[in-house]
Amino acid sequence: METFDDRTPVLIAGGGLVGLAASLFLARQGIRSLLVDRHPGVSIHGRARGINQRTMEIYRAFGIEADVLKAGAPFDDEAGVARCETLAGPWEWLYEQEAPRAWPDLTAGEFCMADQNTVEPILIDAAVNTGAVHRFNTELLSFDSDENGVTARIQDRVTGERRTVRADYLIAADGNRSPIREKLGIARPDAYTFLHSMNIVFRADLSEFVQRRALFWMIANPAAGVFGGLVSTADPSRWQLTVSYDPKTESEADFSDERCLRLIRGAIGRDDVPAEVENVASWEQGVGVAERYRDGRVFLAGDSAHTWPPAGALGANTGVQDAHNLAWKLAHVLKGWAPADLLDSYEAERQPLAAHLAPAIVRHQQARMSGATEPEDPPTQILDYRYWSDNREILAPPGGRAPHLWLGRDGERIAVHDLFRDTYVLLTDSDTGPLPDLSAPVRIYRIGRDLIDLETQWPSRYGSGSALIRPDGYIAWRSTSFPPPPPPPRG
Ligand SMILES: Cc1cc2nc3c(=O)[nH]c(=O)nc-3n(C[C@H](O)[C@H](O)[C@H](O)COP(=O)(O)OP(=O)(O)OC[C@H]3O[C@@H](n4cnc5c(N)ncnc54)[C@H](O)[C@@H]3O)c2cc1C
Repeated sequence: METFDDRTPVLIAGGGLVGLAASLFLARQGIRSLLVDRHPGVSIHGRARGINQRTMEIYRAFGIEADVLKAGAPFDDEAGVARCETLAGPWEWLYEQEAPRAWPDLTAGEFCMADQNTVEPILIDAAVNTGAVHRFNTELLSFDSDENGVTARIQDRVTGERRTVRADYLIAADGNRSPIREKLGIARPDAYTFLHSMNIVFRADLSEFVQRRALFWMIANPAAGVFGGLVSTADPSRWQLTVSYDPKTESEADFSDERCLRLIRGAIGRDDVPAEVENVASWEQGVGVAERYRDGRVFLAGDSAHTWPPAGALGANTGVQDAHNLAWKLAHVLKGWAPADLLDSYEAERQPLAAHLAPAIVRHQQARMSGATEPEDPPTQILDYRYWSDNREILAPPGGRAPHLWLGRDGERIAVHDLFRDTYVLLTDSDTGPLPDLSAPVRIYRIGRDLIDLETQWPSRYGSGSALIRPDGYIAWRSTSFPPPPPPPRG
């Protein structure tokens, strides 16, 4: 019989943004997890940069919003997308103004640009300081799952030491090529890759050419063989040039420093600019949504579950929001506050969302590449998705995200979503009546008594009565009078 070196309620395979976020969300709900990633540490590349309002609203509730905003401060003045043959030549602005970062009527979360390599350490610190265990340089070699848990074999890539881990649940946050998804045989119907990209991270002083920082520059210099994009990083002398390549004939090894410098200078349009190549990494731009997000005790989250092009910055954001949806359900089941079938709602809620987003994001990317106007309505796309009802008749309907409110308590200003983290919350405008009978703990706040409705928005956003809100900020149950006992929430 196999013996176990480690036991953990949740094993997380993959320490990108999604795995790290899952470990933080679980830790803050009192659930221990072990995260393994085969890389030595955080991402070297900026990669996903745009953190949308919903993700920032969640980061706010978990206490890391201020740090993330600080990490994003260098990007505060960046806006627009420019097209040029070379950076030194004339630019055509495809658009110059960014959509507003704040949607004050809808959320306290403000859009933030911050490099993945600066946000990941914030997630790591917050998670580890709350009890999560992270092991980098550690690969998940194999796993088997049964009806009671998952047995995984992991290996330290430095020492070669192998350990066997027994976990109640496994989160596959192992990226686009997800070995876990592959092993489980979970298909991604209609998945295809349309672009193979090589990211070249380099150092150079480009201040002579960049009077105004764009969000990114689309560069097409046929004479130099450069077709790609240039993006800034938080460090003003560090840049990333992304070019396409053909994986059938080339790999990272073919991108020598000499070749990268030729490409960098071709993009700048000057041969005499000193530059130093720091790192080269390949990645795929494609689209694919897993047909299932769950196999027994294994859950897919992030790029392992869905992948699509960068337009709209919904890749990492949707992944972090998957982790947010899953973490409270795992926590409730592990604490015995909910039956195990609550976990069925993870796939039921998140998979259709990805299937819905994928074609819209492909259209968005195509429009962006052809210079057309941005096609989507971001507030609706980011905040207004409903998990199980489309009832537009009542305010704050079940299945939708709880509408934003500014609330006051002892002189403190609280966004309603700051209240949602580890338990159900009942908001009510009545101050009498029995408490609902749930197996899970519920925090009850009486609007006007425990919390002041600072902008008098409760009537226009919630109407009257009570709203039972899940730990992820989605409405589980509504009543217009307080309160017949609600049925036990099922997700
Ligand atoms: C090189 C690269 C560049 C990118 N650049 C951009 C960009 O410029 N713009 C953009 O919008 N998006 C970009 N993306 C995509 C974006 O970063 C992702 O959508 C998002 O970060 C997904 O996060 P994730 O945590 O789900 O997956 P990932 O960030 O891919 O993380 C998966 C992690 O799992 C680990 N892992 C995999 N298998 C195992 C195993 N068996 N054992 C242990 N660990 C394992 C990997 O080491 C990795 O750290 C890029 C992706 C990559 C890989």
